[in-house]
Amino acid sequence: MSLRHGRPYLAIPGPSVLPDQVLQAMQCPAPDIYGPGMPRLVQGIVDDLRAVARTTQNVALYIANGHGAWEAALANTCCRGDKVLVLATGAFGHGWAGRAQAMGLEARVMDFGKRAGAEADRVAERLRADRTHEIRAVLAVQTDTASSARTDIAALRAALDAAGHPALLMVDSIAALACERMEMDAWGVDVLLAASQKGLMTPPGLAFVFFSERAARCGGDLVSPYWDWTLRANPEEFWHYFGGTAPTHHLFALRAALDLLMEEGLTHALDRHARLARAVWAAVGVWGEGGEMRPNIPDPAARSHAVTTLHLGAPNGTALRDWLEINTGVTLGIGLGMAAPGDPAFHGYFRLAHMGHVNAYMVLGALGAIETGLRALGISHGAGALDAAAQVMAGV
Ligand SMILES: *Cc1c(COP(=O)(O)O)cnc(C)c1O
Repeated sequence: MSLRHGRPYLAIPGPSVLPDQVLQAMQCPAPDIYGPGMPRLVQGIVDDLRAVARTTQNVALYIANGHGAWEAALANTCCRGDKVLVLATGAFGHGWAGRAQAMGLEARVMDFGKRAGAEADRVAERLRADRTHEIRAVLAVQTDTASSARTDIAALRAALDAAGHPALLMVDSIAALACERMEMDAWGVDVLLAASQKGLMTPPGLAFVFFSERAARCGGDLVSPYWDWTLRANPEEFWHYFGGTAPTHHLFALRAALDLLMEEGLTHALDRHARLARAVWAAVGVWGEGGEMRPNIPDPAARSHAVTTLHLGAPNGTALRDWLEINTGVTLGIGLGMAAPGDPAFHGYFRLAHMGHVNAYMVLGALGAIETGLRALGISHGAGALDAAAQVMAGV
């Protein structure tokens, strides 16, 4: 017998849970892309995306995933042979560096390991050492979705300023936007990357690149017409937004998702993510008192509010994940980038996403399912984890 037959919960860190309103918004015939409806729709989406990123600057929309945003950001600002400094806190930072290198840039990686955010002091020191200002851009990942490390972006801005370095600050906020605080303008972020399928609760397929006037003037020589952000951000005609046919149904979906976010209020959505994350950490802390479970990021200040990477020891991480999928209807994320897939240590990790359209009962359900799996598999753990989570959610 299995207890999984009911509404499933895909608790992987992207694609995230799709709200019913988002799914319903896509159930309609194709619209006339030459009528007045689509330009109005996209203008409203652009305004709301800017509000979510807390910027009044440019945004270019792409029919792409996050990898497309990585390339768009670099192609529009960098020239072949330019040096970029990549601050890696997990697999995604290394992934972006690999793309930069493959595009003909010289990617210098500062590796901060996989258990903490990037250290602003060390970045400032590295930038001071670059006396001739060869580094064109500093690339940071706000939430590395593999390690679940979160980097303090305001502190990075301060580091660039303290070093008096003119490099562009580029931030991959793909797993963070609408989950964590982001103040693009106040924090002096020059290029900000996001995608539809994480905190923005929309199917994968849309990527967003916000950019400052300073970044706009960089004139990268790697860009081809399709990826050029100039017309996309300042379209003379509607088709310039996407360099061709607009992704109509993704836009309907995103409109519905942004409506949900605006109804809730951005601040409340960020507070909800913070509270749910703390509830998860409270449960994990209790489990860890009587067993091997521990959050991958020791310092709570450096933990993502959107996803938690957990260590349970091999092979229990994968065994628990498999058991939950078969028996409870909860699908946890695999441990990504913490160990090579062939390495037995790979099976020591799993991830629990709490990003986007997720509320108290869903997180309590996932935690309850984990508790059930720990018991069923005879994996030792401390008692009272659900109590601890409920306590945090109750706010008492
Ligand atoms: C998901 C993600 C990406 C990659 O996005 P794809 O849509 O899979 O290409 C990049 N960076 C971060 C931080 C992510 O979470």
